[in-house]
This record gives sequence, C-alpha cells and structure tokens, in this order.
Amino acid sequence: MRFEFRVYQRRFRKPLRTNHGEWAIREGILIRLDDRFGEITPLEWFGSESLKDAIEFCQSAPKAIDPDWIQQIPFPACQFGFESAFSAGELKELPQSALISDDWRSLWHQGYRTFKIKIGSEIAIAKALLDELPKAANVRLDANTGLTESETHQWLEFCDRYENIEFLEQPMLENELETMLKLSQQYRTPIALDESVSNLAQLKDCFDRGWRGIFVIKPAIAGFPSQLRQFCLEHQLDTVFSTVFETAIGRSAGLRLAAELSNRAVGYGTTHWFDELNSEDFEELWNSL
Ligand SMILES: [Mg+2]
Repeated sequence: MRFEFRVYQRRFRKPLRTNHGEWAIREGILIRLDDRFGEITPLEWFGSESLKDAIEFCQSAPKAIDPDWIQQIPFPACQFGFESAFSAGELKELPQSALISDDWRSLWHQGYRTFKIKIGSEIAIAKALLDELPKAANVRLDANTGLTESETHQWLEFCDRYENIEFLEQPMLENELETMLKLSQQYRTPIALDESVSNLAQLKDCFDRGWRGIFVIKPAIAGFPSQLRQFCLEHQLDTVFSTVFETAIGRSAGLRLAAELSNRAVGYGTTHWFDELNSEDFEELWNSL
C-alpha cells in the first residue's frame, strides 16, 4: 500500500489546563494508506512516543508498506495509527461523555448526559457545579493524579453522597496502586485508573496486581488495537474509552473499538474544544492540510 503522511496543528479554543501545564495546540499526523486513513496522536507526558519520534518514524517509513511491516512498529501511537488505518467498518452511535469547558448547558442541549469534570483538591468548586447540574446528568470526576491519600478519602466520602457520580478517575499517582486498590474497596463510588494504564503493558500490569475496577483506555496511545481488543475480551475488562484529542479519523477508529469492548459512555465529546479540523469527512480533513 502506498503510504503518505501529513502533520497538522490544531489550536484549542482556549488552552486546556492539565497537570502538565497548559496545552494550547494539539499536533498530530494524518496518514494515508492508498485510500484508507489513520491518525497518530502521541501524548508524550502520558508515556507515548513524542510527536518528533512519530514524525521521524513516518519520514523513515518505506513508500510502500504491508501488514508485516506494521507489526514491527515500535511506538504505541504509531501502532494505533497504522493498524487502525487497515481496519474499516460501520460506526454505530454510542452515548458520549463531554468534558466540561465553560458552559454545561449548551452541552446538555446538544444531548450530552455524561459529563467529565477535572478536579483539583478544592471540593467546594465541584460541589457547586454538581448541585447545579440536572439530577439526570451522569458525572465523572477526574483528579489526574493530583490527590493525596487523605484527600482521596475526602473526595470519595463526598462522592458517595451523590447518586449520579459514575466514578472518581485516577485520584493518586501511578505508583500508589496499592492504596487505590484499598480505597476502591471502602467506598461505593468506583475508582477508574487512567494515567496508571496508558499503554497495554501497564494495563496488564495493573490487572495482574489485582485491579478489577474501571480502566480508562486511550486507544490512540495504547498500541496495536488488535492486542488491546484481545486482552479486553479475554478478561472482560470494565472500560471507558477516551480521547487524546484526535480528529474524526482517529476518533472513529477509537469508537469502533469502544463499540466492541465497552458498555460505558465514551469520552470523545471534545470537538467543542476546537474551531478547526472539525470536519467528519476524512478526505476533506486530509485535503485541508
Ligand atoms: Mg483522565
């Protein structure tokens, strides 16, 4: 298959605040294998290759590639991009979770019923928002590893008072798995692992160490979709599929996996974070670069 790639930059409508600082521009790579499209969206601080690694890898790739070559790819985001470019298929409608930016009301009117809130240590801010949201809203709280053990206790106690909190996501650092395992047995509100399971090797490791709670999977940086699929099916993992801010190309590949492997609302409700490269048409996205 003839291989081509194009690098893109996509500016966030307003910079996204993360635990790793402000994120203003999403850079990624669209790839094309004959008439099939794929997307490579590294997230280096989450443990994938860097964008630079991925670009250099694409530059060094042969002009004509085959499936055997793809199976030798060393980088997780590139593994996802190339392998998923091969798989095609129908995309079915899935319930979506939206990351709240400024205004949950417009998201609610667009039909979203699951909302994700990024939290700090300040419970009062989340409480104000939770008390404002309709009771039918399903809420996910994401701490991005920012809490101590005693803060996590406080948050879980707080969460247990609400009927509509689906889970508390990654309260503590990756190396605190034992503590999170213990806490997950003490409260009604489930804990979901995200940063702890950013690639398949880590996912397997947490499973081996006893985690049977929720796994947040970012398929775009998790490596080969075929291996991820096999592991999830074999162990019947309870998963949430989530974005690393792809265009429609990477998103549709992730959503196909989610449709097959997960029963929870998918975390891909992020197009409201961008003004550009929002087209759903792959050819149009490609031609706009
Ligand atoms: Mg998260």
